[in-house]
Amino acid sequence: MKQSVKSLIAGNWKMNGLGASLAEAEALRSALEAEPATCRVALCPPATLVDRMTEACAGGPVEVGGQDCRAEASGAYTGDISAAMLKDAGATLVILGHSERRQGYGETDALVLAKAEAALAAGLSPIICVGETLQEREAGRAVEVVREQVIHSLPLVLAGQAFAVAYEPVWAIGTGLTPTLEQIEEVHRAVRAAMIERLGLAAATTPILYGGSVKPDNARDILSTPEVGGALVGGASLKAADFLGIIRAA
Ligand code: PEP
Repeated sequence: MKQSVKSLIAGNWKMNGLGASLAEAEALRSALEAEPATCRVALCPPATLVDRMTEACAGGPVEVGGQDCRAEASGAYTGDISAAMLKDAGATLVILGHSERRQGYGETDALVLAKAEAALAAGLSPIICVGETLQEREAGRAVEVVREQVIHSLPLVLAGQAFAVAYEPVWAIGTGLTPTLEQIEEVHRAVRAAMIERLGLAAATTPILYGGSVKPDNARDILSTPEVGGALVGGASLKAADFLGIIRAA
């Protein structure tokens, strides 16, 4: 098998998917069993499907993750889900600090840090998202904003643990827009430096995923960019054929 330097391609289904959508996960599983991927592959469906997708993917090459978790272990938090609940349902990883949560629910770096601690304690690998808004990029502050998010969102306990950071420019999510490859490399290098500043050399090989309008037709270029260790994929992960196109580019 071809050796890949990519670590993880993860799909974020967001608030999409009913029971019938598990057919896409099953199709992905079958395709990857017939021709294995060169990297880890995960799907993060809505919480209602974590259990059933885990069952559909059991023993196969597709891991299942959550899209968020509460920092507290249990309690009176109507509508929320804990890291232990995700783990219990079969998840192995969890997306944290997605910009749709930072912006829509006012999630701060401190809260993302607390959630990452909770995820680790429950045995989940966090994928911690960072990224600048268009306004911040246009003000020339992309690197500075992302550096601050990394420093303040990553708990020290992550040193030496399995996790990933996803660089997702807010303006590239779901828009069809992507940064230039030079811009992606510049920010990924800044993310790497901030991770090492925060966690030490243990973070020198931790994967940094790129996310934001990754599609089969741009995946090869993006995934070949230095310091890009994989991808976090939204819309294009909903259909097995599209997601496979990205996975095959890794
Ligand atoms: C995302 O929401 O994490 C994402 C990357 O979305 P999309 O691929 O649709 O831009």
